[in-house]
Amino acid sequence: MLKLISRLLVPSCCVLCNEEGSGLCNACSGGLEKHQDACYLCNAITHDGRVCSSCQWRTRVRRTNILWNYQGDVEGVVHGIKYDGREDVASALARRLMLSELPYFDIITFVPDTPARRRERGYVAPQLIARELSRMTRKPYVEFLTRTQHTPQVGAGREARWRQVKSNFSVKHATLLEGKRVLVIDDVVTTGATITECARVLKLAGSGPVFVAAVAKR
Ligand SMILES: [Zn+2]
Ligand SMILES: [Zn+2]
Repeated sequence: MLKLISRLLVPSCCVLCNEEGSGLCNACSGGLEKHQDACYLCNAITHDGRVCSSCQWRTRVRRTNILWNYQGDVEGVVHGIKYDGREDVASALARRLMLSELPYFDIITFVPDTPARRRERGYVAPQLIARELSRMTRKPYVEFLTRTQHTPQVGAGREARWRQVKSNFSVKHATLLEGKRVLVIDDVVTTGATITECARVLKLAGSGPVFVAAVAKR
């Protein structure tokens, strides 16, 4: 309640320069280093951020839309949503994603946290963006994925990350998924192990093509 009142009273300010009006102003957003469309697994430059032909056997993700490279001020933007849970920043990010030539999709979902982490923070950063994007695009948003275990990736080697993330996710509401083109929202893509696993379980549960939209790539 208090949070709601303060949101109504305090106008939203740019997370980087504090200018009033939006969670991320156009000037600051324009200064961030764009992520070049590429295969998220091997970084080969591809048309529209498609997965390249040599990586297609490794993943059920068809294409990624990633806004920026994770460096400089992008860290501040990610912090605003990931650790402060700012909905005005989520809204600005959803708008950016909408302008990023997203593929055609039927339904939106997001990469979840474990229930414990969610309770601790009170929100899930990619969910904040997914909700806003759903409102803007008028496409339904469904919480399809649950995370059974969270294994911290920081410090873990590349191989270990891929092993750890296996079978960490499961799917609910699978009947709503049947044949649907799904857009999965994430905040920061690192090795790509997480989104690869999310796409695998979504496809196993019967979804159509899986696309990913994310804020940044490490
Ligand atoms: Zn700004
Ligand atoms: Zn590739």
